[in-house]
Amino acid sequence: MSEQVQPFELPYPAIDPLECKACGRCIAACPKKVIALGTKLNARGYVFAEYAGAGCIGCLNCFYVCPEPNAIAVHVKAKEPK
Ligand code: SF4
Ligand code: SF4
Repeated sequence: MSEQVQPFELPYPAIDPLECKACGRCIAACPKKVIALGTKLNARGYVFAEYAGAGCIGCLNCFYVCPEPNAIAVHVKAKEPK
């Protein structure tokens, strides 16, 4: 059964810097444009995708277009109490 995002939870992409190959597919597929390539290199010599830190709507586009099995996932976290 799929996990539903509840109103009190915030979705976000979890990117593994070591597994990302900087193909840019998640960046092109994100409707909110909240993923971009960074400038640091990982241990394999690739720059890697990074989340802007806010704005993700949990659509999962980035997850489905990524060709690397373990590079990106979408999780939810509880909102910070006000
Ligand atoms: S889940 Fe959707 S909105 Fe969130 S980072 Fe991925 S493509 Fe962008
Ligand atoms: S689609 Fe996957 S491999 Fe390509 S830049 Fe995004 S996280 Fe990296």
